[in-house]
Amino acid sequence: MSAVLPAPAAPVADSTPQQVLHEVFGYAAFRGQQAAVVEHATAGGDALVLMPTGGGKSLCYQVPAIVRHRAGHGVTVVVSPLIALMHDQVGALHEAGVHAAFLNSTLDADEARRVERELMAGRLVLLYAAPERVLTPRFLAQLQSLHERGLLSLFAIDEAHCVSQWGHDFREEYLGLSALAEQFPGVPRLALTATADNHTRADIVERLALQTARVFVASFDRPNIRYTIAEKDEPKKQLLRFIRDEHEGDAGIVYCQSRKKVEETAEWLKAEGIDALPYHAGLDAGVRARHQDRFLRDEGLVMVATIAFGMGIDKPDVRFVAHLDLPKNIEAYYQETGRAGRDGLPADAWMTYGLADVVNQRRMIDDGEAGEDFKRLQRSKLDALLALCEAHDCRRVRLLAYFDEDSTPCGNCDNCLHPPATWDATEAARKALSGIYRFRNAAGSGRYGAGHLIDVLRGKRTEKVAQHGHDTLSTWGIGADVTEAQWRLVLRQLIAMGHVVAEGEYGTLALTDSARAVLKGDVPVSLRQPAEPTAARSKRERGAAKPGRSAKPPPLPLDDDATERFLRLKAWRAEVAREHNLPAYVVFHDATLAEMAREQPASLGALGAISGVGAKKLEAYGAEILRLLEQD
Ligand code: ADP
Ligand code: ZN
Repeated sequence: MSAVLPAPAAPVADSTPQQVLHEVFGYAAFRGQQAAVVEHATAGGDALVLMPTGGGKSLCYQVPAIVRHRAGHGVTVVVSPLIALMHDQVGALHEAGVHAAFLNSTLDADEARRVERELMAGRLVLLYAAPERVLTPRFLAQLQSLHERGLLSLFAIDEAHCVSQWGHDFREEYLGLSALAEQFPGVPRLALTATADNHTRADIVERLALQTARVFVASFDRPNIRYTIAEKDEPKKQLLRFIRDEHEGDAGIVYCQSRKKVEETAEWLKAEGIDALPYHAGLDAGVRARHQDRFLRDEGLVMVATIAFGMGIDKPDVRFVAHLDLPKNIEAYYQETGRAGRDGLPADAWMTYGLADVVNQRRMIDDGEAGEDFKRLQRSKLDALLALCEAHDCRRVRLLAYFDEDSTPCGNCDNCLHPPATWDATEAARKALSGIYRFRNAAGSGRYGAGHLIDVLRGKRTEKVAQHGHDTLSTWGIGADVTEAQWRLVLRQLIAMGHVVAEGEYGTLALTDSARAVLKGDVPVSLRQPAEPTAARSKRERGAAKPGRSAKPPPLPLDDDATERFLRLKAWRAEVAREHNLPAYVVFHDATLAEMAREQPASLGALGAISGVGAKKLEAYGAEILRLLEQD
């Protein structure tokens, strides 16, 4: 590298965060905690920022980066774990007219050199890089040189929970980031994450040396997301019905636990006429990248995936996130479902769950390599999730309470919208427990799974019953008045509450110490009524189902003329996105196009007042948009 470096770009006139928000991003106001974080970071303070997915973390460092660069402080280095997404993130900044770049292995030597030149000249506003890149001696030396010249403005550490072993995305390379504090004292650091319970939070502070940083905790509520947790009953069909009835043609993510199930489900959806693709860590890297790219760029694609998919996916118009299997805990559930509706428009978080899920998750913990302490923590986290699944009160109140936030019933979850009927299952719970207890002294292995127990309680003469003479037990047939579905619910609840454990490959049931109080009738058990069987429900729903639609309607209610304008704008946007090799939403969000179509601005001034239209986009696209809007 040449010894003589060009002088840093002359600072433009000072701007305030509010001006930058308006001019560059085209937004009228900061949301929630954004204003406070931005003010603090712009002034050079360290911070740990906890904001739910879709809460608007990017602006928390992008706005300070721009303001500080304009004031002559130089570059903001954004540490991000996901190389695959840097291209689109930087593309979005370019669309907004911000001089940003990324450094990663996808660049060839020439491109990388060009980026380094811009960096060293102090012209770059934001530079994105993965932690392993940031920590190379070469890069650290470059940063040192910038630092000495006062041109290292800020570090933003995205997905900061990756530094914690307690979190669910631990990345070894993140540990090295503590070096930034030592080597560049005085350079403010901003750590951002959407998931961190108290434990993880403390870990981040410790490992990134953020002891004196201010902690900003935004509300974790995502009011536009509707939560639904349905009982499992032919889950694939339930999923198909959910997509057809409520999300025909929408982009969505379907999470499954295993690679095999991902493949099967994607195939099945495709056969049913839904545009779906699989994504899991077992697929070839090239295939994965292609599928992810299609998801980001296409409209209306359904990605069926393991949790390997999604971190950092900032596609704003994902209209639903479905879980066919139970996630590990509430943090994981909340982060995964948070990928829906980042644009603030209505979206669904939908999950099916059943007894087998409980058994599987417990077994995965039990069979895991982790130490006993860690297992205990995992079990208690699973219990909290199970309690959420079994709840018959507001899901959101429970979710937010888990993150220490008080709230009142939301009116936008399944339980609020259709309060479930409940029944007093205290007697049934006692019968189930004594059924398990009685097996101990009966013939056979003494240990049985849920299916056989239910047969015995209901007095069903199966081969197994005859073989073990279980029709002679005192518990034989004592629960004939309770349906099989209800029994499953009772058992699930007992397992969820920790009175029963399901063990081994066959999920054989055993009592825990706490079962005694329930057996004695000291613990009242209230359960939701199981849902109606599928057949009856689907017939009714089929009658009400909407006909398939060809073109997706706009996200806001628009009259026919406005809808036509909206579709015209979308077609134009698709062309621009293709030309720029970027996802369409990077050009403009659906919500922005819809507002244009509805308001029909007739001048550049009026167009610029629409949310999401910044100065650069107005200059680049304004005239063309006005022309498109006039074509009536
Ligand atoms: P996160 O990284 O926290 O998941 P993002 O930074 O991707 O969230 O922001 C989510 C969406 O909200 C983005 O599409 C962004 O453009 C939009 N957004 C963020 N802040 C604002 C704001 N103050 N006004 C309007 N839209 C915003
Ligand atoms: Zn609710």
